[in-house]
Amino acid sequence: MKNPSPKNGIMSISPYVAGKSEIAGNNGKIIKLSSNENSLGASPLAIKAVIEGAENIIRYPDSGSLELRNAIAKRYNIPAEQVVCGNGSDELIGLLVNGYAGEGDEVLFSEYGFLMYKIYTQAAGATPVMAKENNMCADIDALLAKVTERTKILFIANPNNPTGSYLTTEELNRLRAELPEHILLVIDAAYSEYVDLPDYSNGFNLVHTTENTVMLRTFSKIYGLAALRIGWAYCPKNIADVINRIRGPFNVSAIAQSAGIAAIQDQKFLDYVKTHNNSWLEWVSGALTEIGLQVYDSIANFVLVEFPKNNKNAKAANDFLLSKGIIVREVSGYGLNEHLRITIGTKEENEALVAALKEFMAS
Ligand SMILES: *Cc1c(COP(=O)(O)O)cnc(C)c1O
Repeated sequence: MKNPSPKNGIMSISPYVAGKSEIAGNNGKIIKLSSNENSLGASPLAIKAVIEGAENIIRYPDSGSLELRNAIAKRYNIPAEQVVCGNGSDELIGLLVNGYAGEGDEVLFSEYGFLMYKIYTQAAGATPVMAKENNMCADIDALLAKVTERTKILFIANPNNPTGSYLTTEELNRLRAELPEHILLVIDAAYSEYVDLPDYSNGFNLVHTTENTVMLRTFSKIYGLAALRIGWAYCPKNIADVINRIRGPFNVSAIAQSAGIAAIQDQKFLDYVKTHNNSWLEWVSGALTEIGLQVYDSIANFVLVEFPKNNKNAKAANDFLLSKGIIVREVSGYGLNEHLRITIGTKEENEALVAALKEFMAS
């Protein structure tokens, strides 16, 4: 018998490995710093909306996520018709690739760009093309040098996961200006709420001023709603139209829509999380540097840490942390074998992490 065979490209996909959440044999307390989730929880208003939403689960959700789009539009002073919601921003990455690239087309991103760009590109039968980074940061000239007449999309996560690095406003503007107009530039700003640097911009500007740029956002990171799967894209009208044609009609659940509406109005919660992250990001980075590890500058809620190549390597560090009930993220899927990505946690979690790594380095 001949088995059905999948489309070209599918079998070359290495499935995405999510951050671990359990440790075999450990039934005690676990510290999970592996998925860049919000260690401080979620807005109480969003949690209330989820509980109340349980009363209405017999109904289909609003297929256009209209109220949620209105809330987003109001918060950022943009037209709701240019916002499209997705089942996480992951889904929107996939929809954009499917809408704009197929067999014979190329999708471009940087060497350590977020892994889902590659996976969705392969799933669409298109060809992933990667440009070398410079000291763990996307390199605009290297990206531009990889552009061909077959390039359809360029994805940039700003800041990027897993490196935590970013392109400045000036660099992003130059990238857009030098990129041929027919190429869709997608700025994935999953962590932008954590950032307020004067030379950073999350992509709003370029969507306002060009016809070929999309910004992606998510409720999974600073809002602490990862389980609900809510992302959104701010795009030119014609691109919103393309995504709306191919997305599932009920792609965002009703409970997720209600929680998103509540969460986006709770600026107090966001400020609290941001203040916490600002100081602990600095503290964790400093403490790990002090014990001899290389910590890459990050502007998000995680750090990429490079370990020595001797017996204090990343694999040994990871095993040691697991033995202490601490889960961080291996990033070998990115080709980063000497590195671990560590999410900023609560005060207690950060202190436990640093204590454990101190013990590891000294042992
Ligand atoms: C976490 C993350 C996403 C995915 O977020 P979801 O909305 O949960 O799908 C997208 N891009 C980057 C860079 C991320 O780190």
